[in-house]
Amino acid sequence: MHDAKAYSAASATSPLALDTIRRRDTTKTDVQIEILFCGICHSDLHTVRDEWSSFMPTTYPCVPGHEIVGRVTGVGSAVTGHKVGDVVGVGCLVDSDHSCSACANDVEQFCHNATFTYNSPDAHLGGVTYGGYSESIVVDESFVLRVPENLDLAGAAPLLCAGITTYSPIRRWGNIKGKKVGVVGLGGLGHMGVKFARAFGAHVVVFTTSPSKTDDALRVGAHEVIVSTDAEQMQEHAGTFDFILDTVSADHDINAYINMLGLDANITLVGAPEKPLPVSAFALLFGRKSVSGSLIGGIAETQEMLDFCGEHDITADVEVIPIQKINEAYERMLKSDVKYRFSIDMASLKAE
Ligand code: NAP
Ligand code: ZN
Repeated sequence: MHDAKAYSAASATSPLALDTIRRRDTTKTDVQIEILFCGICHSDLHTVRDEWSSFMPTTYPCVPGHEIVGRVTGVGSAVTGHKVGDVVGVGCLVDSDHSCSACANDVEQFCHNATFTYNSPDAHLGGVTYGGYSESIVVDESFVLRVPENLDLAGAAPLLCAGITTYSPIRRWGNIKGKKVGVVGLGGLGHMGVKFARAFGAHVVVFTTSPSKTDDALRVGAHEVIVSTDAEQMQEHAGTFDFILDTVSADHDINAYINMLGLDANITLVGAPEKPLPVSAFALLFGRKSVSGSLIGGIAETQEMLDFCGEHDITADVEVIPIQKINEAYERMLKSDVKYRFSIDMASLKAE
C-alpha cells in the first residue's frame, strides 16, 4: 500500500480539497498508472453533491474522476496486455465478477458486482474506490484500455466516459447513415454525441438552451441547430427525427423531444437528472415511439470506440485546467459554461 495525493470532498457541501489517499500495491494482474489527465464529468458533480442519494448515495471522503488517461509505471507478474511506459485509459469501471451473463456478453457495466471507479465498495482496501482526481491509480488489467498514440491526451481523457456513453447508444441504434439524429444539450456528452453521429453519416441536429453555442455546434459537426426555447423552431421539426440522444443533466420537458420523433423512433436518455421526468403516454402512443436509457459501455466497446477515435482523429474539445481550479470548474459546469469538457492537467497536483 502507498500514499497518493488526491482532491476529495469531505461532505456534500464541502469544496474539493487536497487530501492523501491509499492505493494498493499491484497484484499479479494489476497495472499501476501515473495519471496525466482526468476529465470532469457532470456525474462527478452529481456524486460529490450526493444528488443521486436515492440510487447511489455518496460515501465521503469522495474522490471523483472517471475519465483517466495516464502512463503505466508498473505491472503485475501476470499482466500481458500492458507494459511500463504505455499510454492507457481508465473509464467508469475498474472491476466486475467476470462470471455473470453481463460479463460474458461484454456489458460489464450491468454486472451486479461491477466496481465503479469511485464511490464503489473497494474489495482490496475496504471503504470505497477513489477516482482519477489523483496522481496515480492501480487497476486490474482487464479494465485498462489502450489509448491510440496519435490522440491529444488532454482531449482523449473525456472519451473514457463522455465518449463511450454517446458512442454506445448511437451504435446500438443501428445504421444511422442518412437518418435525422438529434442531440439534446451541447455539453461534455452532447458535443461527443454530435461528433460520433456525424462520423456515422447522420444528419445531425443539436437542441440547445444556449443560443450562443450555435457556431460551436456547427463547428463540431451539427448540420442544424434548434434553440429549444423557441416554440416556432421546435414546431417546424415536430415528428421528423429518427433518433434523439438526450444528454441533459437537469430537470427538463422530455415530452417536447418525444414530439420531435417520427413513427417508431426512439429517444435514448443518457443524462441523469436528480429527479424523475414525467412522460406523457399520449406523446408515445401516437407514433409507437419509445424512450430508452443507456449506461456508459462495456470494456470491449470502449476499446472499439477509442480505436475508432484514433482512426478518425476524434477527441473532446477541452479546456485544460490545473486541479486547483476544480471548484470554479464545477460552478461553471452548472452554468453550461464549458467548451466543452474540462480536462485536469494532473502535473498541477504533483506541484502541490
Ligand atoms: P454537461 O457538460 O454539464 O452538459 C449538460 C448540458 O445539458 C448542458 O451543457 C446544457 O446544454 C444542457 N442543460 C443543462 N441544464 C439544462 C436545463 N436545465 N435544461 C435544459 N438543458 C440543460 O454534463 P455532461 O457531463 O455532458 O453530463 C450530462 C448528463 O449525463 C449528466 O446528468 C451526467 O451525470 C450524465 N451522464 C450519464 C452517463 C451514462 O452512462 N448514462 C455517463 C456520463 C454522464 P445546452 O447549454 O446546450 O442547453
Ligand atoms: Zn462520466
